[in-house]
Amino acid sequence: MTLVVPFNNLRHRVDRHRVALDAAYGAVADSGWLVLGEHVANFETAFAEFVGVEACVGVANGTDAIELALRGTGSGPGSVVATAANAGGYAASAIRSIGATPVFVDVDPTTHTVTVDSLTPALEAGVDALVVTHLYGQLAPDIAAIADLCLEHNVVLVEDCAQAHGAQRDGRTAGSFGAAAAFSFYPTKNLGALGDGGAVCGGSEVAARVRSLRQYGWSAKYTTDSVGGRNSRLDELQAAFLLAMLPSLVAENAERVAIANRYLADITSSHVELPTIAAPQHVAHLFVMQTDHRDELREYLSSHGVSTDVHYPIPDHQQSVVAENATVSLPVTEELARRSVSLPCYPGLDIQAIDHVIACINDFDPDGAGT
Ligand SMILES: *Cc1c(COP(=O)(O)O)cnc(C)c1O
Repeated sequence: MTLVVPFNNLRHRVDRHRVALDAAYGAVADSGWLVLGEHVANFETAFAEFVGVEACVGVANGTDAIELALRGTGSGPGSVVATAANAGGYAASAIRSIGATPVFVDVDPTTHTVTVDSLTPALEAGVDALVVTHLYGQLAPDIAAIADLCLEHNVVLVEDCAQAHGAQRDGRTAGSFGAAAAFSFYPTKNLGALGDGGAVCGGSEVAARVRSLRQYGWSAKYTTDSVGGRNSRLDELQAAFLLAMLPSLVAENAERVAIANRYLADITSSHVELPTIAAPQHVAHLFVMQTDHRDELREYLSSHGVSTDVHYPIPDHQQSVVAENATVSLPVTEELARRSVSLPCYPGLDIQAIDHVIACINDFDPDGAGT
């Protein structure tokens, strides 16, 4: 019988936290207070402390968090915002939703993130803001230098930390380098809710603006005085679930890194190129390899019960909705979109499953019929 290894298994995370989640539900139900109450406030305080910033504002999801982080730091209609095109399109979507224009820059072939070198031409040409995505769990290695470069060019730096909860560099945590940072708590993220959720982290002034923007632009009930306000709140229930799971985040990140390290140590196939995953800068949100035989490899693994995914198959600048950037050429981004393939990597993935994935990849022969 073939071992079945799903790409992710959210049942694992619910099961392992079940007692705390049930208690969290009970506390919210008992309180009778369902929107913007003590659980959201307590989670915001705890998460701001975890990230090492003054404030955190819970919002409805990670894409809203990018949007509100941009608006809260001064971007709006007509702004020009630089970002990478290999990170799933979330930043581009948020940039467009505020009436701003994305400018796509290429990424480094090894780290898959933007770098000082890849950004400099765009920053010199003049942009208002920059969204840096800490991709696959890795805090962009250049982030401190990028923050300095942004200051020099008067560009607002927003970090997209949706894949990098808890990643650290020189004692600083992802989300503490920019003017604001966006987090997603979508269920598959390293810290995931039982539904949608997100947060904006930053200083107290940015947080105050985002607090108003997430609730219709109100300064007080029924008093609207921020332009660009909307409804994007984090539910009490999701905040209570997140509070219950936050204490396990560091240990669960370590579990992900341990799985990645098994892959790195034992995958020996010459048909794949392995990533570099060094904790604590990398929290192994995704294990992404490169290969010239992606379709064959995925099909082969699938026939042996192993599910894979591609993060991401279509670069932002090549999406059909993107007219303005159709002529942009981003060679590294385009090559990554052709060659990337992601393996299962999540807390609860057991040893037999990991061994099976490794054995299958090491047996893979694109020139033979496969075994
Ligand atoms: C998941 C993700 C988002 C979006 O989060 P949602 O909560 O799904 O809106 C943004 N950026 C990156 C890099 C992501 O992985």
